[in-house]
Amino acid sequence: MENSLYLAWSSESEIQKTASSGGAVTTLLKFALENKLVDAVLAVKKRDNSRFDAVPVLITDPELIRETAGTLHFAPLNMAKFVKDYLDGARDTRIAVTCKPCDARAFIELAKRNQVYRENLFLAGLNCSGTFQPAVADQMIREVYGENPQELAMEEIEGGKLIITLKDGTTKEKDLAELAGQGFEMRENCLRCSCKIPRMADIACGRWGNNGQAATFIEICSPKGHEFVDAAARDGVLVTEAATGKQIEERRQKETEAVEHALAREKRDLDGLHDLSHEERLKYWVGHLNRCIKCFGCRDACPICFCKECYLEPYRDCIAGGETPPNIMFQLVRLSHVADSCVNCGQCQDACPMEIPLTRLYNSLNRELADLFHYIPGVDVDAPPPLTTATDQELSIDAPYIIEEQSSAR
Ligand code: SF4
Ligand code: SF4
Ligand code: SF4
Repeated sequence: MENSLYLAWSSESEIQKTASSGGAVTTLLKFALENKLVDAVLAVKKRDNSRFDAVPVLITDPELIRETAGTLHFAPLNMAKFVKDYLDGARDTRIAVTCKPCDARAFIELAKRNQVYRENLFLAGLNCSGTFQPAVADQMIREVYGENPQELAMEEIEGGKLIITLKDGTTKEKDLAELAGQGFEMRENCLRCSCKIPRMADIACGRWGNNGQAATFIEICSPKGHEFVDAAARDGVLVTEAATGKQIEERRQKETEAVEHALAREKRDLDGLHDLSHEERLKYWVGHLNRCIKCFGCRDACPICFCKECYLEPYRDCIAGGETPPNIMFQLVRLSHVADSCVNCGQCQDACPMEIPLTRLYNSLNRELADLFHYIPGVDVDAPPPLTTATDQELSIDAPYIIEEQSSAR
């Protein structure tokens, strides 16, 4: 199936006013719910109207979809984890989910392990130029932009700048490099993230290519994506226009620039580590991991951690309870389980109270595995994960605590 490219916007003026880029995604989700293409929509909603705090909300009333309109760069949520842990992987419910590329990649990896039911999910992918940790962003708006964070109406990342719009309409922009120089960087994983357009989702939506118009550039990536967009367009709630060559080229250029930037950062961050001898590398990582207080935050935040009964629980006798720093096996167990499927979402590092650069560890191993097996987690939609570290029993809640040996590579 060839992906189709459109510019789209809502025909409802109310949605156009509140949503960004013409409100195509908001309209599509509302239409899907109204017309029973899905049973529920999982989207992100600001808490207390703050752009620095957001929660996932499961919506069954189409009129409430509007409350989730717009994108947030300062509240990176963990949508796949939410569906896996709290919505039974969408086993019996058809759910449309808004997702960043790393969320979409996590859904793909989880589906390969039967932990979410891809056939019941409609993934409304949102292009992503990166996100900031909420506390970092809040401080940055106060100290660098000199503004009250609660006055923020919108933020966008464009052309290497972070542009903010205040509620009174004033805009201010700063160079991302300049912000980094003052200690205000995006999340480390985002800086290295080269998956900017989530083509593994059913649709990939964003501003790139809209040439400043109030419209969303939609790339349709699956038959389900076609079905939803075509139905909404036929109904008239969504206005679509085939993207022009110029718009497609503009989008391609922006994506290429962003990817090149991320790859350069990855090279900068990881090549130094790869150049170290084995002993030096071990020393570097043991130095970091020895600060671990075994809070389990990284495990609990990781969307990919798949065991229903974790090896790291003390009663499983793999790692002794109560010891800090834990035996190095604590990290190695997690590493061996998720290294081939880590989607670089950064949730582990965000959760770590000891600020251990966990994504650097996973990213570095993941890069080696990607070279070895030609497999990019969550991007290669149909290929199985290259390493098999989980038995069928582990993936089941009824797993006996006996680990069967399996071949480590296919
Ligand atoms: S890892 Fe990539 S997709 Fe995820 S929030 Fe960061 S830039 Fe966006
Ligand atoms: S290991 Fe960290 S970066 Fe990788 S998928 Fe898990 S939480 Fe995300
Ligand atoms: S989040 Fe950090 S401190 Fe907590 S267990 Fe993981 S590595 Fe250790």
